[in-house]
Amino acid sequence: QVKAEIVAVGTELLLGQIANTNAQWLSQQLANYGINVYNHVVVGDNLTRVEESFYQAQQRSDLIIVTGGLGPTDDDLTREAFQNISQLSMIEHQPSMEKITAYFAKQQATMTPNNRKQARVFEGAEVWLNNAGMAPGMCVSFQNRTWIFLPGVPREMKALATEHLFPLVQQLVGKNEIIKSKVLKFIGIGESKLEHELKDIIQAQTNPTIAPLAQDDGIVIRLTAKSESDLQASQLIEHTEDQIINRVGSYFYGSDQDTLEGKVIDLLIKKQKKLAVAESITGGLFTGKISSVSGVSSVFEGGIVSYAAHVKQHVLDISEETLTDKGTISEACALAMAKNVAAKLGVPVGIGFTGVAGPDEVEGQPVGTVYIAIYDDGKEQVEKWMFQGDRNTIRNRAVLKGMELLYK
Ligand code: ATP
Ligand code: MG
Repeated sequence: QVKAEIVAVGTELLLGQIANTNAQWLSQQLANYGINVYNHVVVGDNLTRVEESFYQAQQRSDLIIVTGGLGPTDDDLTREAFQNISQLSMIEHQPSMEKITAYFAKQQATMTPNNRKQARVFEGAEVWLNNAGMAPGMCVSFQNRTWIFLPGVPREMKALATEHLFPLVQQLVGKNEIIKSKVLKFIGIGESKLEHELKDIIQAQTNPTIAPLAQDDGIVIRLTAKSESDLQASQLIEHTEDQIINRVGSYFYGSDQDTLEGKVIDLLIKKQKKLAVAESITGGLFTGKISSVSGVSSVFEGGIVSYAAHVKQHVLDISEETLTDKGTISEACALAMAKNVAAKLGVPVGIGFTGVAGPDEVEGQPVGTVYIAIYDDGKEQVEKWMFQGDRNTIRNRAVLKGMELLYK
């Protein structure tokens, strides 16, 4: 059983300026290979303390993954610290040096001498050329431990890990084992209810493992299967997926890279119906999200951000009566927004959002009150929600709920 440890180097992590997403991502990926990560360490850019962390990791872990501190500046100390621990000598990695030189030539910038540092690697290391940046990754065997050094920049770290680290990890866990995973996505059901519905399946199942996880855009279930062949792993996943869909299929909307907004657009394309959006509380967030889908133009006509009451009145032609008698935070207003924006933009489907994002109540309605209306070819639907959370959470929940209503 391989014991893994992740050491993230960087004072900005300790200051809380950035979150340690590198460790998060690496742990998630390693879990897919059945590797247990026993420790996450964060250490600042201080030579003595980095050395101490490395020393401790060397004592207790088999696979040590270090991210960060490989750059050109004086506070990038990862190489120095490991050199002091291991007494390994360092050499210049020519392909990396050429990359660095070429980069500066292309930018027509002069290369300061400290950039040479980024091409320095431990003697005997397996060097992983960094195609997304300068400092290469390294794999070093030292006194029965495997040390991996990766750059701190998440994009570079992920690219090197995917290309080099995970194949190596695959070898560590067993040459012939194939690991496959699939993510199933659900909307309109909470995590606890989903777990409850699937309890017996989850408990009985060891291959694939079933891991539910609440995310910002709904609940996902990750299925991870291990097998000797790719085909068999796929079959294991398929079998369990069928069981799950049989139970809770009505909440299922997609898998892996699918997004809810993408699915909404697919549905509108299938129905050949165009959509228009009127937003108050969400201030354009819904329009932003829906228009992020490529190929959206065939069914998305446009949106109006009618934040102030007079915009609702004069741009969307919502009657003064509705606005003053029923209020801007009301079923009637949401419905008028949906209906009028569809009419104004000349399309069959309109969606309207109005509500109170906070921090203060509006028209006597508490923070979190949201009305979402859908007008669909004469069919009217409006729902009231009470969302918890701060201003942005409420707005994001409203956007998600709007997507969900359109997908139903
Ligand atoms: P470079 O060669 O680009 O200087 P580096 O290996 O020296 O990279 P750092 O200087 O430590 O890495 O970090 C570069 C940037 O990467 C940081 O400013 C930070 O935004 C990001 N970063 C570093 N470590 C992490 C981490 N553990 N999680 C998320 N982001 C990180
Ligand atoms: Mg750096």
